[in-house]
Amino acid sequence: MSGSPAVVMRLVASAHTVAEKAGAIVRKVLHSGELGIVEKTGANDLQTLADRLAQQSICASLSRSFPKITIIGEEELPAEEIKEDLIEGGHSEEILQKTCPAEYSGLKEEELVVWVDPLDGTKEYTEGLLDNVTVLIGIAYEGRAIAGVINQPFYNYQLGAGASLGRTMWGMLGLGAFGFQLQEVPGDRRIVTTTRSHSNKLVTDCVNAMEPHEVIKVGGAGNKIIQLVEGKASAYVFASPGCKKWDTCAPEAILHTVGGKLTDMHGNAYCYNANVKHMNSAGVLATLRNHEYYVSRVPQSVLQALKSD
Ligand code: AMP
Ligand code: MG
Ligand code: MG
Repeated sequence: MSGSPAVVMRLVASAHTVAEKAGAIVRKVLHSGELGIVEKTGANDLQTLADRLAQQSICASLSRSFPKITIIGEEELPAEEIKEDLIEGGHSEEILQKTCPAEYSGLKEEELVVWVDPLDGTKEYTEGLLDNVTVLIGIAYEGRAIAGVINQPFYNYQLGAGASLGRTMWGMLGLGAFGFQLQEVPGDRRIVTTTRSHSNKLVTDCVNAMEPHEVIKVGGAGNKIIQLVEGKASAYVFASPGCKKWDTCAPEAILHTVGGKLTDMHGNAYCYNANVKHMNSAGVLATLRNHEYYVSRVPQSVLQALKSD
């Protein structure tokens, strides 16, 4: 490779290491036993000390290395001096060695938008459903999710002491997806994954309309996309507002890299420009294969209730 690495490769390489640091923070807060839970809009919309510290760590670390990038994090935090021990200046050398897809090699910092969910699945985190938890860093260019990093801080936790805890998955359009083994649900089984803590009649009506063989209810947008790419679920169906751009940007990038699709309930793409509204108001429908089938099954009641942007 000639010359210095492309900006976007440096960003993904940093985001990988920064996500690992955030994952370590999420584990540390849990082990401290002091979660510092705050209700945001209500009892099903929580923030913990881990959400706050992980976001401070991710945003301060990336903005120090990439001062001109727009970074949008989930948590609204008071502007304050970030402790130096939260800053991560490292990067993944392995990612830096990869060749940037030609269409992204000239991108400038100013053209990139980073969407950060410092802890996805907070409700489940507070309830001990630890494998539902992920750290999400998505990278967008011209409104498209082009790269994403997902850290799963408690991956392997059921194996108990001795197992190496946590993993990081990442992907970039035109380059590939790494850190997991791509698998499809065997046969033609329709296994639908959906929310466990933000359900309502529209959500369940829509899930049923897919005529699923099986329904899995788990927390986290990142976690549900992991289920899709690891052959545990065929479709992620969430016919409700509630998911935000930081929930879907990184997962969408990885899913699209391996040939899957994430849209609203109408089958329309979401846009990740810096000025878009944060809420994914028209729901989330994500699949590894057969997206059209699932779009075609969405009931009229859902299409009428959830308008595309
Ligand atoms: P879930 O599948 O319920 O874990 O939701 C996936 C992501 O969307 C999580 O980050 C949730 O916090 C968020 N989310 C979904 N619905 C809502 C809601 N009604 N209020 C707040 N956050 C929500
Ligand atoms: Mg989230
Ligand atoms: Mg979150």
